[in-house]
Amino acid sequence: MPASELKVLMRDTLSHFQHLHRLSGSADAEKSVDWLCEQLQARDIPFRRESCNLWLSDPLDASLTVAGQVINAKTRSFSAHCPDGVEAELFHDTQSLDFIPENALANWSARVRGKLVLADQGFEDYVQRLMNAGALGLIHIWGSAEAALHEETVGPVWGTPVPDDLQRYPTIPVISISQQDGAHLRSQLSAETLCARLTTVLHEHVAPCSLPVVELPGSSEEFVLLSSHYDSWHEGVTDNATGNALCLALATLFSEQRLTRGLRVAFWPGHSNARYGGSTWYADHFRSQLLDHCVAHINVDSPGCIGGSQLVVNASGAESSDWLNQAIIATTGKPAERVTPIGKGADQSFWGLGIPLHFALREVPEQRQSLSPGSGGGWWWHTEEDTLDKVDEAHLWRDFDIHQRWLESLLYEKTLPLDARQYLALMDDALAQLQNEIDPAFSLNTLRERLSALEKLISGKTCKLSSLAEATGLWHRARYRAGDDFHPDLSYHGGAFPGLQRLCGFRRQQCSERYWLMLETQFIRQRDRISELLTRSEWILRQSV
Ligand SMILES: [Zn+2]
Repeated sequence: MPASELKVLMRDTLSHFQHLHRLSGSADAEKSVDWLCEQLQARDIPFRRESCNLWLSDPLDASLTVAGQVINAKTRSFSAHCPDGVEAELFHDTQSLDFIPENALANWSARVRGKLVLADQGFEDYVQRLMNAGALGLIHIWGSAEAALHEETVGPVWGTPVPDDLQRYPTIPVISISQQDGAHLRSQLSAETLCARLTTVLHEHVAPCSLPVVELPGSSEEFVLLSSHYDSWHEGVTDNATGNALCLALATLFSEQRLTRGLRVAFWPGHSNARYGGSTWYADHFRSQLLDHCVAHINVDSPGCIGGSQLVVNASGAESSDWLNQAIIATTGKPAERVTPIGKGADQSFWGLGIPLHFALREVPEQRQSLSPGSGGGWWWHTEEDTLDKVDEAHLWRDFDIHQRWLESLLYEKTLPLDARQYLALMDDALAQLQNEIDPAFSLNTLRERLSALEKLISGKTCKLSSLAEATGLWHRARYRAGDDFHPDLSYHGGAFPGLQRLCGFRRQQCSERYWLMLETQFIRQRDRISELLTRSEWILRQSV
């Protein structure tokens, strides 16, 4: 299909999706899948329309009243549902962004207990901390100056929960207010004691959600997974109708070719109101196919934004940076601003499946004016204002072009752009940094020695591609996961070696005996888990000829 027709297809997708509020479980979300499937059918592109039941939390309404004044507020997906309201004294937690040593936690807890807490953050782990301390609710002050309120989630569980996960869900209401309203409240509060009343209305329900997957066969059994979430907050044109348009156009383009590796193009539900429920369902239900044959997962979220002039690649670390940049240079004339590790989020539900390559292109503005992590850093991210006028078609086409180049290499070239030595070096850097942040009682030397032995091993011999790919899959489990392959980690605690990150900040002299014992246990288990994964990879590489 010529470029002009692909551009028309992308434009059609945007103009169709902009009228649909695609929160998973809604009629509009299913209508958007109907439309996608019609496009695929009309072009004879092979696909399956899977259906998965997801546990959804839809934030519907919130209110905040302080001393008679009503303040504009939004609640969060997976906040507690408190339609009858909670009324209590307001407390400004000036330590919300600080690390609190274990021996100072009781004092902090006493200050927030029984209060509605006003704070500069609203992340899931902070909500858990407040819950455990007995706070009655959280009012999160957004950190940048836009008046628009953003939708977000405080869901602590990745994907659909199992029974033991239930106790993690927030039992307190969580709302967000603008920076300006927050500053006003803070200054009032410094002069007088204030009482506040807040309400939240959420709809928690289980609903079937469509999950369409294009399946283009290759001559080999191996395949590449390209994915984008189709659910949205409100019109969600740049998050993520642009991503869906780009993926649909790529599916169309490659459906006309004879591929060496196959291509699957998945459109996820449940990104927003089920905490990556769709991609996690796919990882659970297509486990053996992904485990045996998938060589790369490329996630597409929010391309084609106005202001998104700079490009960053979020990559696992195992991908050759030169290879990633080749496609970007060929399209834009210069490399990405940076290639940086993938954070926790954005449907990265595939670390336990041995897939060696994981990456995503991200747009960032030249000058950041909003704390929005999505929509190219645009202030409209996750708001009613994420509309068609926020799309820059030239940026969308640029991003399409980069993905096309990446896929042409992955779908046709015999080799894979793996850089095992680079990944080992990045993991060693991360361990060196971690060592500075944890108590000296916890030595990471044995792990660093294992990495260095691996480095020597692969420098001295040529390993088979399949062995390198298998070893990389084990390294991802160590670098990006703290638990086993069959239960995703919690949605918080990110960073390199997340199980070891739990030790950061704690010092023995600031811990009770009981807490120190727990940290020691955490350390032993995580160290040995990582060590075993590295040993297994070493064995695989030694056998490789
Ligand atoms: Zn998104």
